[in-house]
Parts: sequence; C-alpha cells; structure tokens
Amino acid sequence: MTAKLIWPTVVVMSTTGNTSHCLRCGRTLRSSASITRGYGAWCRAKIRAAAIAEVVKGFTIQQAEKARDLIADAGLVPTSRPGVFRAVSSKGDATYLAHSATCNCPAGLRSRTACYHSLAVRIVMASVTA
Ligand SMILES: [Zn+2]
Ligand SMILES: [Zn+2]
Repeated sequence: MTAKLIWPTVVVMSTTGNTSHCLRCGRTLRSSASITRGYGAWCRAKIRAAAIAEVVKGFTIQQAEKARDLIADAGLVPTSRPGVFRAVSSKGDATYLAHSATCNCPAGLRSRTACYHSLAVRIVMASVTA
C-alpha cells in the first residue's frame, strides 16, 4: 500500500525536475543546456544582442565592425589576467594588451576614448555574461 503511493510521487518529481521555464518568456525549456542557463536559446540570443548593443553605444559603426572582425578572426586571445586580452593589430604585425577600458595600441594610448580593441573586449565580456 505504501509503495503504491510513493511510486507515482517519484515519477512526478523526476518529471518536474527535468523541465523548467524560461526566465524571460516563461516557455517550457527542454534542453539541459537551456535549463542550466535559465533561458531558451531564442531569449538568450535576444539578451546577448541587447547586451552587445548596449556595449557598442558611443562607438562608430566602423569601430564596431573592426571589433567584430577581430573576434571573428580569433584575433582576441584571453590572457591569464581576468578581463585582459591579447589583441592582434589590424595588419597582424603586432599584438596589444587590451582591457574593456584601456589598450596599449597607438590609438588607445593617443586618444581618450576607447579603441576598437577595448570595444571587442567589451563585446566578448557581454557575450559571456549574458
Ligand atoms: Zn524565453
Ligand atoms: Zn587598441
């Protein structure tokens, strides 16, 4: 009698334990990766896009494109220091140490505003944390 009562309870518990709801839209999540993150793939992409749009604000389209190319070409390599990346120069003949706020490339040292290497770091950081 007791065993019969326990068994269905266990089944219900294991089912609810394997599904979750997206924290943004409330849709049922099925993939374990989505459940771990708390968002469905679509919402996660939206959140990431919003985070990147926020980061790119204040930069020119050219800077944003250069930053995107740098990331796409794997020209931004994490160093052992958190938040510090080694960035390959646009000509590929030099590398710089870039951080979200500073960079030791000629443009970064010359201007008060962040260069596109720093922007690339911000985009990477936004993608990781989103
Ligand atoms: Zn969602
Ligand atoms: Zn730079």
